[in-house]
Amino acid sequence: MGHQAVMARPEKAVSGKADRIKKVEVTLFSYSMENVAYGGVDLRGATSERLRLAVQIWTEGGATGSYVGGQANSHAQSVQCARALLGQDAFARESAYERLRRRLRKEDRMGAGVIDCALWDLAGRAFGLSVAEMLGGSKTKVKAYASTWFGGQGGGLASPEAYAEFAEECFELGYRAFKMHGWTDGGTQQDIAAIRMLGDRVGKKMALMHDSACSFRTFADALAVGRACDDAGFFWYEDPYSDGGLSAHAHRRLREMIKTPLVIGEHLRGLELHANLVLSDGTDFVRADPDFDMGITGTMKLARFAEVMGLDVELHAPGPAHRHCMAAIRNTNFYELSMVGPSRGSFNAPVYACGYSDELDAVGPDGTFPVPDGPGLGVTYDWDRIRASAVDTVIVE
Ligand SMILES: [Mg+2]
Repeated sequence: MGHQAVMARPEKAVSGKADRIKKVEVTLFSYSMENVAYGGVDLRGATSERLRLAVQIWTEGGATGSYVGGQANSHAQSVQCARALLGQDAFARESAYERLRRRLRKEDRMGAGVIDCALWDLAGRAFGLSVAEMLGGSKTKVKAYASTWFGGQGGGLASPEAYAEFAEECFELGYRAFKMHGWTDGGTQQDIAAIRMLGDRVGKKMALMHDSACSFRTFADALAVGRACDDAGFFWYEDPYSDGGLSAHAHRRLREMIKTPLVIGEHLRGLELHANLVLSDGTDFVRADPDFDMGITGTMKLARFAEVMGLDVELHAPGPAHRHCMAAIRNTNFYELSMVGPSRGSFNAPVYACGYSDELDAVGPDGTFPVPDGPGLGVTYDWDRIRASAVDTVIVE
């Protein structure tokens, strides 16, 4: 990894004076997902729209940082965060975390993630260090799993056979782990058939996971699919049923009845709620996402909490912040390369001007993706493209 300084901050090193945030720009922008039908179904020729957030931060001392990610619905929260941090020291990420946690106390706090990630990018660029280096990380690549679109009629993932064939295609590309997002109609029979077929066809050479994204209607259905995962030797079983992935009690009972480890927590936000779930025995793996769980700062707190508990933390979704965090976390297994399918539907925003990619075919032959090694997040955004597709831009200064 490079250590070349790109911007010195001698005034802070000498005097300890804060370098205050003078401007934050929060842009909501849209992009087309080709070969993806409404509802996240892999379908050649279809087009869906997706919205994401782009954040840029400037300080009085001339430092800058940026990040693209997050969820469209948290745009207003992110703007609220920007207002809360205006005039604050851009390098004081812990106090920013505390300030934002309180400011968003009546919300789900989702909007804080993109702001925190941009602050880490800013600090890394100022110090000439990658985020992974600032975190003390040493991994240069992360081992990925291919995480599919949902099943649907007429699409590329329309049958259990289609999932098995796509898993074999992913194996040939280099992946050694595969997660199916199944059908979301509430039924279980196709999911169970796909789980059994995946176990038969690739179970000896790939780690397999199932994620219904909270689709199964009853505890009994979740139990039936979980028992199929047991029979097929699945690596994990994620958010099985329609409590919204929130009930510690229900998942503790489910854990008592099946062998396959559970991954619950994608729909809980932040350190305290994830900790409550773990302490209530509601999950086996801890879930974290820099976009959802108050940024890189929040994700690393969760990783250390999991470490204390002797558990692994599994990061949700792909992105540069996720790779940097994983570079500095021992107790983690796989990078989620989502969402992918045989029709090559594009999930991730086409915003990079530096060759960074979270596309299915960008995987290395060893099944890994590189941790960017430039300063900060180590990526360059195509701001002309982002601005051209802006839906709403708020400038806080
Ligand atoms: Mg999930």
